Amino acid sequence: MSSALIIGDGPGGLSAALYLAKNDIETTIFGQDETPMHYAMLYNYLGIPEMAGSEFQEIGRQQATGFGANLVDASVEKAEKTDDGFTITANSGDTYSGKYLIIATGPNRELAESLGLERGDDGAIGATREAETEVENLFVVGRTTRPHQVQAIISAGDGASAALLILSKEKKEGKRFCDWDEVES
Ligand SMILES: Cc1cc2nc3c(=O)[nH]c(=O)nc-3n(C[C@H](O)[C@H](O)[C@H](O)COP(=O)(O)OP(=O)(O)OC[C@H]3O[C@@H](n4cnc5c(N)ncnc54)[C@H](O)[C@@H]3O)c2cc1C
Repeated sequence: MSSALIIGDGPGGLSAALYLAKNDIETTIFGQDETPMHYAMLYNYLGIPEMAGSEFQEIGRQQATGFGANLVDASVEKAEKTDDGFTITANSGDTYSGKYLIIATGPNRELAESLGLERGDDGAIGATREAETEVENLFVVGRTTRPHQVQAIISAGDGASAALLILSKEKKEGKRFCDWDEVES
């Protein structure tokens, strides 16, 4: 099974983790639950009329781990490209390797820069609309790449987009993968 590492546990990282784990990619997500979502009161997330950001986060964490994502309570200090993927070092000193890496670190853009990605004039780490970067199998999502569109639903959409690209590579040999479920008749 291929594996993905996700740095950052806000809406962007958790959404990517949910999509990947739900579709059998070995997924490890790092963060210490320090997202600014804990200050938010959501009235603008389609489908959720009203919810405190902390509750949203708790549900998101349960959703992702419920499908098998490994949520590691750690800060990532170092990220390196290797011949077959990426290796990251947590503040515990433990190292983790994976074929894919998704950076979802909000306004903290240092790890993305350490992998050779550049900031634009607006501070954004460059990525395509689908969250791909110029480094193979490295994705950047949410606020890290969209400093002027800081909305939970946009970060979650970015995370889903990165995950779909990974799933397209892994399951469809590059043909587009959709994560659709149907009502039971
Ligand atoms: C007061 C306030 C109110 C808001 N209200 C709303 C609202 O009503 N509606 C709305 O849509 N949005 C709202 N927002 C914005 C919302 O919080 C952001 O859009 C959202 O959190 C961005 O998600 P993200 O996943 O891109 O980044 P973040 O949520 O910033 O997540 C990044 C995560 O990565 C972690 N991280 C960073 N570096 C590392 C590292 N090296 N290792 C491990 N983890 C790391 C951080 O601790 C954080 O948990 C509000 C924000 C604030 C401050």
